[in-house]
Amino acid sequence: MSDCIFCKIANGELNTEFVYENDYVVVFKDLNPTAPYHLLCVPKTHVESLAELEDEKLMAELLKGVKAAAKKVGLTDYRTVINTGKEAGQSVFHIHFHIIGGRPLNWPAG
Ligand code: 5GP
Ligand code: ZN
Repeated sequence: MSDCIFCKIANGELNTEFVYENDYVVVFKDLNPTAPYHLLCVPKTHVESLAELEDEKLMAELLKGVKAAAKKVGLTDYRTVINTGKEAGQSVFHIHFHIIGGRPLNWPAG
């Protein structure tokens, strides 16, 4: 989608540094990190949210991207989050996993 910021990032239009990349996903640092490590795992194709994600191959590739990126940066303990819908905190409507770590994290989260 031409006006989607994560499509632009995933297509390389904004020269974003990728922590990890494969044929299906890119992983890059969140602009406003909430922990020493705060990465976003984003599919190269536009899917608005988890509610719209039907492609089982892409479901698997997103998780594989999360694991590969965490391993690459040396994160063994981390939280993964997908916010689905405005009320749940989704602000960018191109599905993404947050990968958060590098400090102790409380659970349940607020
Ligand atoms: P959401 O609120 O949709 O779950 O997460 C969106 C995340 O994307 C937020 O944590 C926000 O800081 C991050 N973000 C928004 N715009 C940009 C951007 O242009 N570049 C990067 N690297 N992160 C962004
Ligand atoms: Zn998009």
